[in-house]
Amino acid sequence: MIDLRSDTITRPTAEMRKAMADADVGDDAIDIDPTVERLQCRIAEVLGKEAAIFMPSGTMTNQVAVRIHCKPGDELICEANCHIYNYEQGGFAQLSGAVARPVLGQFGVLQCEQLQGLIRPENEHFTRTRLICLENTHNRGGGRIQPYDEIEGMTRWAREHGLRAHLDGARLFNAAVASGVSADRWAQHFDTVSVCFSKGLGAPVGSALAGSREVIREARRHRKLFGGGMRQAGIIAAGALYALEHHIERLAIDHENAQILAEAIRQIEGLTLEPDTIDTNIVIFRVDPQLGTGAELVAAWKERGVSALAIGGQVRAVTHLDVNTSEVRRAAEILRDTTSALRRGVRPVQQGDAY
Ligand SMILES: *Cc1c(COP(=O)(O)O)cnc(C)c1O
Repeated sequence: MIDLRSDTITRPTAEMRKAMADADVGDDAIDIDPTVERLQCRIAEVLGKEAAIFMPSGTMTNQVAVRIHCKPGDELICEANCHIYNYEQGGFAQLSGAVARPVLGQFGVLQCEQLQGLIRPENEHFTRTRLICLENTHNRGGGRIQPYDEIEGMTRWAREHGLRAHLDGARLFNAAVASGVSADRWAQHFDTVSVCFSKGLGAPVGSALAGSREVIREARRHRKLFGGGMRQAGIIAAGALYALEHHIERLAIDHENAQILAEAIRQIEGLTLEPDTIDTNIVIFRVDPQLGTGAELVAAWKERGVSALAIGGQVRAVTHLDVNTSEVRRAAEILRDTTSALRRGVRPVQQGDAY
């Protein structure tokens, strides 16, 4: 099976497992785990921040950031299709009492001018606008890289209005490698930045939140509160450290592979790339209803050996460490055969997962 459902499905390589097995550990909830400490120092350095903290998931790093920046009743501005708003159970409301003001971008990309007038005036009827959350690359936007100038402009606007800024950088390293703008340059515009080690970087577990020393001290309290204090976490931190050292530059391969798949999709009648250009490792395409639904295409593709995700009338395929170029080429050929079969009216035997 060629699995293109997500870049989270990667399994640790033999070398990564060795690094994990050999890791020095301690009780990080009592005081310190030396490998976690090394990872936190390293990621703070890579992101150009004073400090960083390791957590079990990207959802937790995002939600801890919201908790630090917002009091109950505060409002955060975000893009309408972002992860924080759509895929974290509205945690900002459940865990921090914050409300969200979603603004629709183009494939996840917001323009500075869309923010004008969104700050609510001080008035007892209104929430207090407190935070802006941006996502780079944008997951639901098909791995879109935010335009650097817009990020600069939006975060400057936020600062000028007394707002904090948080970056959901689950795939920030994809953005850095594909754009040539380093992770710390992207990160410098934000008070807090979260990154995932378990996506394209290929580590089994973990995310980090980076920011000022003071903010990260606060984050440690909230991590404990949210149940994310971990003991001998050096075992998993070692996987993340290994990934930082060995798996960043190679993201360029995933991006090239995504281009191969995208180019094949452009040639297939009835499939339309959305967006029509691919920035990084996520390829989303619409299925012409005459061929069937997204779920039907996914089921038919799967019968022939390729897994992807159906999202309504769309299909998402993601390239990653565990699929090589020839497998991606094969997946593209199989997609061509699959759509031909659907066009001839050959329907898949079973329905695929429709999420
Ligand atoms: C995956 C992801 C997260 C966090 O996901 P977890 O599964 O909680 O680690 C956050 N933001 C974006 C954009 C993501 O793609």
